Amino acid sequence: MVLGPTQIEEKILNKGAAPQMYNRTREFSKTLGRVHQNLQYLFQTKNPVFLLTCSGTGAMEAAVLNTLSKGDEVLAVNGGTFGGRWTEICKKHGVKVKEIKLKYGQPVDPKDIDRELSRNRNIKAVLTTLNETSTGILTDIKSIGAIVNRYPAILVVDGVSGVGVEEMPMDKWHCDVLLTSSQKAMALPPGLAFISFSKKALRSAGKACLRTFYFDVFDYQKNWERDQTPFTPAIALIYQLDVRLQKIRKEGLERYRKRYKRLTGILRRGIKAIGLKMSGEKLSNCVTGIWSPDGIDASKVVEHMQENYNIYIAPSPGDLKTRLFRIGNFGDIKEKDILRMLSALKDTLSYFGHIEKSEAKKWSRNQ
Ligand code: PLP
Repeated sequence: MVLGPTQIEEKILNKGAAPQMYNRTREFSKTLGRVHQNLQYLFQTKNPVFLLTCSGTGAMEAAVLNTLSKGDEVLAVNGGTFGGRWTEICKKHGVKVKEIKLKYGQPVDPKDIDRELSRNRNIKAVLTTLNETSTGILTDIKSIGAIVNRYPAILVVDGVSGVGVEEMPMDKWHCDVLLTSSQKAMALPPGLAFISFSKKALRSAGKACLRTFYFDVFDYQKNWERDQTPFTPAIALIYQLDVRLQKIRKEGLERYRKRYKRLTGILRRGIKAIGLKMSGEKLSNCVTGIWSPDGIDASKVVEHMQENYNIYIAPSPGDLKTRLFRIGNFGDIKEKDILRMLSALKDTLSYFGHIEKSEAKKWSRNQ
């Protein structure tokens, strides 16, 4: 129950062991054609969604390299590790960043973005994160999209741990670049990323000077039109993606999301009953940050759960290592897995001296 890579159902795992098809064939294009259509459904967009063979960070860098030029000014929302990564990528390529740095666990106020954009009409892009996985905080992309749409800037959204389990209709919410990767909300092995550009973003791409060979959006577009990719893709992962997308399509995005929301609700009610505090108010589906009780080292809780119950939950990066642990319920996690984890967590905390509250006792008796 970490935040990706996730538990994957056997049927999809086994698809990865199928013989590798030569990718420049009509047969493979047929598979890719279906995948392309289903990715548009996932992103809720009429624009092409390109398949990149890389992790999520590769797609983030592709977004920057394709739409910006050295010396351009951008606004980046830094609510944690992944928001901060936008700044790191931009700086590496000579793009000037104005950061909105958030306090831990706080979502960005869309009005702050409006203020910055109205102050500086030169801002070329607003870079943000749908779900800041390091904190679990969900961003109000809908409101931000309505704001950015009134300016020349484009809105770039990292949806790595959100697309699929959170609402994110790209076109309706005026998002110009949306990206995600395979190993979190998509519950597949790592190695693939997906990225889409609006017409406005493609206009920026036409003018941008930070060109890239491997990630050149126009090369991807040309190949997308014949249901191909410019270079050899991770074929086994595409077989797995094909099955995942067909499953989502069959179930329907809304029902798929609701199923995860229900499981996340069970998890959070259990966490509250144990008497623990979560990392923020506006938490995204499937990522729950939890403060370790006073005097109990969060990293020790993570280790104890692994060593004694074979349950993997996630530690936190940097300064929060000893204070916060995080639990994911992406992928093939069932209600029984959540209940088993909660029970193990409760026992782990008592082992470290956490006093059980009466609600926790009641919760245990009811399971
Ligand atoms: N963005 C978000 C929101 C993430 O959660 C992650 C990974 O945890 C990344 C980007 C980076 O993805 P990757 O590790 O696949 O490069």
